[in-house]
Amino acid sequence: MATGTVEALRRHGLRATPQRVMLLEELRRRHDHPSAEDLHRSLLPRSPTLALSTVYATLESLERVGLVTRLSLGEGRDRYDAHAHPHAHLVCLGCGQVQDVPLPPLALDPAQVGSFRYAYSRVVHYGWCPRCQASAKDIGPRRGREECPP
Ligand SMILES: [Zn+2]
Ligand SMILES: [Zn+2]
Repeated sequence: MATGTVEALRRHGLRATPQRVMLLEELRRRHDHPSAEDLHRSLLPRSPTLALSTVYATLESLERVGLVTRLSLGEGRDRYDAHAHPHAHLVCLGCGQVQDVPLPPLALDPAQVGSFRYAYSRVVHYGWCPRCQASAKDIGPRRGREECPP
């Protein structure tokens, strides 16, 4: 067990259960913004009795205390991120890969929102990764259902 992870859990008021430590370490190691299913799949060889429902429940507890951010990009599955530094996301419209990129200067000045208590901003940029640019059929605006050929 990495002491940093155990410390982080305790600082956030969570007991350092083996599942929490394992999931948080895995998420801190990765930069591909995995879904709960992705995490479950990659942790199973190490932890054969790990249930997908446990992965969900553990991620929820980590998210609740702010150790993990959940990303909903409209793909029908949420992704998770344990990298706390402020950053924006670059999403490939072809294959769906998500990268971290620096957060651009925000148009909203948090001091200018009046009595609204500003918390944070999320910025998502869309485009095509180099691999999807090479397979040109995937390039173009995402088609709506009615534009799809029969
Ligand atoms: Zn791609
Ligand atoms: Zn990220």
